[in-house]
Amino acid sequence: MQFDLVTIFPGFFEGIFAHGIVRRALREGLVTVEARDLREYAHDRHRTVDDRPFGGGEGMVLKPEPLAEALEALGIRSREQGSEIRDLGTRVILLSAQGQVFTQAVARELAGLERLVLICGRYEGVDERINELYCDMEISIGDYVLSGGELAAAVVVDATMRLIPGVLGNEASGEFESFGAADAEIDVDVEGVPRSQHGAGGLLDYPQYTRPAEFCGLRVPEVLLNGDHAQIRRWRREQQLRKTLQNRPELLDKAALSAEDIRMIEAMRRQ
Ligand code: SAM
Repeated sequence: MQFDLVTIFPGFFEGIFAHGIVRRALREGLVTVEARDLREYAHDRHRTVDDRPFGGGEGMVLKPEPLAEALEALGIRSREQGSEIRDLGTRVILLSAQGQVFTQAVARELAGLERLVLICGRYEGVDERINELYCDMEISIGDYVLSGGELAAAVVVDATMRLIPGVLGNEASGEFESFGAADAEIDVDVEGVPRSQHGAGGLLDYPQYTRPAEFCGLRVPEVLLNGDHAQIRRWRREQQLRKTLQNRPELLDKAALSAEDIRMIEAMRRQ
């Protein structure tokens, strides 16, 4: 998969992808990431990429011409020129606090594509006509305002990349985690607990422990030490439900839950 980033700070990305799984994916050629300097497409003496907002107000806005030229140089055509020539495997994304919120489900959708072009805004944002003419999606990474789209783009690249087949060692591990998709059908054991944690079903992950078994007077939950896999599975499911209820109760509305899950949640609510 190919990621193209349009930014006024290409150097921002030099270190950020030089670690861990992302670095390995880049080395192995599973993905490519290229940062394009927007100023290369500004032709005045000062390589100006911003201007004052029409209508007045604070700050500056990224001008449309250099952005359009940068996108055209990447082979992206504007809707005006006919969106039908757009490659179906490509999405042009504007990072923006005004966008739809980036979730694991969006990351899964993007990971199925061949190429993402990510536009990093700065100042007060990007001239809206770039959004109208070139962008397929406007993505926000959360309900707060960053000083630039670079961090947001790095988040989208990282979360998307690790879902591309071959990037994580174990193909299933992307689904074992928080927000993992549901299994096609919830297969439950005799006690009504889902048989696998393969599909987190939109729940948060369960807590993890490693050695030593005792740390600062706190022991690892006994169930994790006894080797009874059915009990461990049941405990982990309960913990997933508990964490989700505690920290992100709204996720339960859309989660894939068994009848036993619902019973456990009701019991937790009564506690
Ligand atoms: N005036 C804009 C607003 O209130 O929506 C904020 C502009 S912000 C200071 C500058 C740039 O940072 C934006 O153009 C966008 O690219 C990026 N940005 C800020 N917050 C973001 C978020 N939550 N998600 C994605 N990008 C964000």
